[in-house]
Amino acid sequence: MTLRGRLTAAFLTVVLGPVVLGAVFVGTTLSTVDRSRSTERLSLAATAVRTSIDALCQQLRAAADAVALRPDPAGRAGAAGQVVSRGLAAAVLVTDRAGGVTYATPGGPATGWQDCAGVRTGGPVRAISARVDLRDPAGTPLGAVAAAELVDPAFVARLAAVTGVAVTLLDDTAGPGRIAHTTETDGVRAAVLAAAGSADGERVTATGDGRYVRRLGPTPGQPLPLVLSVPGGQSSGLPVVLLGAVLLAAALAVLTAWRLARVTTRPLVELAGAVDRVAGGDLTARVPVRSRDEIGRLAAAFNRMIRETAGYVAALTSSRDQLRGHLGVLGDTLASTHDLQRILRVILHSAIAATGARAGAVLLRDDAGMLVGQCVEGLAGRCPAGTDPEELRMPVGAGVVGAVAATGEPQRGRVRPGPTPPGEPWCETYVAVPFTAPAGEAAGRDPAVGVLVLYDRLGGDEFDDDDLATLRTFAGHAAVAVENVRVHEEAQRLSLTDPLTGLWNYRYLRESLRREVERANRFGRMLSILVLDLDRFKIVNDSYGHAAGDAVLAEFARRVRGEIREVDLAFRQGGEEFVVLLPETDARGAATVAERLGAAVRETPVVVAGHTGTPTTITMSVSIGIAVYPDHAGTGTEVLDAADEALYAAKGAGRDGYRVATARPRPVPAGEVPADPTAVPAGTAVGDDDPPRAGPPTGPSAADQPPSDQSAADRTPADGARTEQPTGRHAVGTPGVTQPGGASSGPHPPRQSRGR
Ligand code: GH3
Ligand code: MG
Ligand code: MG
Repeated sequence: MTLRGRLTAAFLTVVLGPVVLGAVFVGTTLSTVDRSRSTERLSLAATAVRTSIDALCQQLRAAADAVALRPDPAGRAGAAGQVVSRGLAAAVLVTDRAGGVTYATPGGPATGWQDCAGVRTGGPVRAISARVDLRDPAGTPLGAVAAAELVDPAFVARLAAVTGVAVTLLDDTAGPGRIAHTTETDGVRAAVLAAAGSADGERVTATGDGRYVRRLGPTPGQPLPLVLSVPGGQSSGLPVVLLGAVLLAAALAVLTAWRLARVTTRPLVELAGAVDRVAGGDLTARVPVRSRDEIGRLAAAFNRMIRETAGYVAALTSSRDQLRGHLGVLGDTLASTHDLQRILRVILHSAIAATGARAGAVLLRDDAGMLVGQCVEGLAGRCPAGTDPEELRMPVGAGVVGAVAATGEPQRGRVRPGPTPPGEPWCETYVAVPFTAPAGEAAGRDPAVGVLVLYDRLGGDEFDDDDLATLRTFAGHAAVAVENVRVHEEAQRLSLTDPLTGLWNYRYLRESLRREVERANRFGRMLSILVLDLDRFKIVNDSYGHAAGDAVLAEFARRVRGEIREVDLAFRQGGEEFVVLLPETDARGAATVAERLGAAVRETPVVVAGHTGTPTTITMSVSIGIAVYPDHAGTGTEVLDAADEALYAAKGAGRDGYRVATARPRPVPAGEVPADPTAVPAGTAVGDDDPPRAGPPTGPSAADQPPSDQSAADRTPADGARTEQPTGRHAVGTPGVTQPGGASSGPHPPRQSRGR
């Protein structure tokens, strides 16, 4: 059942119950009142009838007395005539002692006299009479004198007139239920008769058509069988009227209840509809506010609530879209670049946008225990005069950011009044989150590798825990980015270095050669290539074992690194063959380096653990081939080949020395005399200004295996294993290879291609 139905039913019960009860009460009360009034009227009428009949009997007795007083029959006849003529009686009858009529006034009824004392003389009542004894003067009874009044319709009508009720005289000699005379109308006679017949004693009975009936007599003093009746004061239509009123009230109540329930439930129905729509996701649903009552207030509150919810949803949607945008940028940046600065900048920018901060910075910890700003935003005017916000530096352990970095615990809050710690930007509110390298379980104990800090939220509120949570996510990204870049750099480095010696590998040699040749081309400079091959190295392996050979190679690499500049690059090309690339260096400078390298190897024997583990001193030497771009070749590959050839020349010339490649004939521009290829004795060119300083990268742990040196097997050692230091053999002559001083040596064995 709906709420409207229940309300209607409740209203009907409340309204119709009293109406029906009231109607029943009114009906009952009215009929009771009516009955008692009618009963009273009938009893008054009965008293009046008795009084009238009593008075009539007195009058008749007096008339009879007046006749009986006459001593003689003639006098009595005369008196009787007078009584009748005066209207004191309708007839006078004188009887003798035997009851025979001695005199009767003319015109009176012969029979049917009802004596006032209740003695009937037989037949239907035609008259009511009073009787006195007739005596002579001596007192001897002579008979009786009776005076009578007619009981006819006029008599009954008089009684009715006296009492004010309808009077009926029954003819009880003809059996019950016969009427002698009545003043009732024809229509009600039967009903009155029926009620009179059932009436016991003188009880008042109601007829079906609203009359009240009462029997009266015959009793002593009132010998006539009479029925009195009055119409009820209440109309017979009263129950109908009452029923009609109840029905009308019911109809009105139903109508009112329906309308009331409708009015009451309509806002609730609208509210329920709106709630359904909202539940279905439609936040535009509104409830009309029709009143200021509780339901109206409920509707208004509902509308307000939905408006606010819609506002929140819009704000959330927009911030979600914003965040999605930032995440997209962040994801793209993380996926597409290893540029740490750029990634950190995007992270900082996203964090600022997500939290509504005015400024922020990402700082990374350096080896010296300082936090160094990697990227900053909005810090202009927040740093002490004379300091550049871009150069943000603060010590770990001091100030808010320093403390966060030192403890690894994030902090947020409002700056207390007081001096700003060194290096820290000025702000009112802050939130700072550390990030550590994502290294698994050790992460908790690791000191932070950096800090993401935001300053001064828009609106002046403090940063809250949500901001902190958001910032932790971004700090996690930053940590991953730092780690990714570190891993990437490490992988890059490992893929380009040789694990045994830590020098660059053959792959990086090719790349560097290409790059340096291009640079030399662009700036019109030259570059030199040195190819180095340890002399008789196979003997070292054979004599002392492969491990000792490896140790010699590592030591050789260390010495090479110690002898070259920072801009120079040293490579292990394969086996015991190495390459040194000297940018912006001519043959003269290269020769100087070659000499220095030769000396560094030659002059200090290498101490290694031999087969038995005892330290063994090995004296080594190296042969070096030198080629210069663009003097000796037009491409990187060719210049390497030329250097290789020069190396062979050096080997062929007895090892422990260097050779410079022969200058290639240059294309001669028209009208120019070709230059003498041997004009510059490269091998004699000495005096590189740059002192050798820099070395190659630090020691690797794993890397690409360099290509095997096939040429190593091709080279035939010219002499046996050397255990003594060769002296004075820095430059050796080879055919086709310029020797220091311009000499050249004989032919060398054909070489297998290196496949470059
Ligand atoms: P030369 O160059 O003076 O003609 O004589 P050599 O004995 O050095 O001859 P070659 O250059 O052909 O020999 C290369 C030898 O270097 C062959 C191999 O035993 C050794 N070798 C190559 N790579 C490695 C390495 O990685 N470790 C060790 N221990 N030995 C290597
Ligand atoms: Mg060798
Ligand atoms: Mg070799």
